Amino acid sequence: MAQNFDLLVIGEGISGLACAGHAARAGMRVATFESTLFGGLVINVNELDGYSEGGHKSGTDLASGLMQSNSDAGVKSIQEGVGAVRAAGTGFEVACDSGRYEARSVVIASGARLRKLGVPGESEFEGRGVSSCADCDGPMFQNEDVVVVGGGDSALQEALVLAHYCRNVKLIHRGDAFRARAHLVEQARASPRISTSWNTTVEAILGGKMVEKVRIKHAGDGRTEEIACAGVFAYIGLEPSAGFAPAGIARDARGHLVAKKDCETSVAGIWAIGAVRSGYSGLLRDAVPEARRVAEAVRDQLD
Ligand code: NAP
Repeated sequence: MAQNFDLLVIGEGISGLACAGHAARAGMRVATFESTLFGGLVINVNELDGYSEGGHKSGTDLASGLMQSNSDAGVKSIQEGVGAVRAAGTGFEVACDSGRYEARSVVIASGARLRKLGVPGESEFEGRGVSSCADCDGPMFQNEDVVVVGGGDSALQEALVLAHYCRNVKLIHRGDAFRARAHLVEQARASPRISTSWNTTVEAILGGKMVEKVRIKHAGDGRTEEIACAGVFAYIGLEPSAGFAPAGIARDARGHLVAKKDCETSVAGIWAIGAVRSGYSGLLRDAVPEARRVAEAVRDQLD
């Protein structure tokens, strides 16, 4: 027997939590699903950049605050991965190992994972020098040299975090210009501990027990070079977590769910918000209002 709600929200990242809380405070019966830890990628950010609502300083503060207020508003948090979303009756059914849940509307807010480099050594040295959390693991690289791969907001933001601890932070970027926002580029340029190797890619991560170096390749002349380092942090973009979403929902070339301006997908009644949605800006200051607008649109459809 399925449990019934007005709205099922898949993902307890900031988008999903903000949407679920707003919907519950508007009187809807709401459940959220999460297969790992609540908070999404933002949970690893110690200093939120450009988002001050509620006075939260870190990703953990923000996510914990939302979880608490959702709980106060009656949102049911289900700690389970979603197997499938299917049409059922006048709405949808969300299937998990523990059971089935039904609602008129589903919001997919399952976010995205950091993409892997896919080079030799990356998985072998995971936790032994290869890391994806500068805030958590940075202190372990005190006065060491590390490499950060990428040229977007994530790479520069995390390089700046690592520069607090490390002797040298070398950005390895495949292009000849950063795509990160100007204030991050300026701060990275101003840091005496951050340098950049342009037009280069990482070919392999090498070491013994721990990471000892990376082999990089220069695009211009094809030359390879080994750079000594104790840590490797790759921030080369995100891949959406949308494997469970119905095949009928349109996707873009990278697998993100395509939605209309109001965030409803090509399947009426299923919405996509945050990093799983094609065209998401990546900024919390956009994600939270978007999540609330969707909660209101879902509420309007219930009437
Ligand atoms: P991104 O903007 O997609 O940037 C990925 C970077 O990795 C690009 O510089 C790209 O190079 C490079 N890259 C991609 N594939 C590569 C490969 N196989 N090998 C080497 N380099 C590769 O990803 P992101 O920085 O994670 O940001 C994702 C979203 O979150 C963005 O919308 C961003 O604005 C947002 N974000 C915001 C904040 C903040 O508000 N402070 C912080 C982090 C992220 P090219 O430039 O040559 O394509």
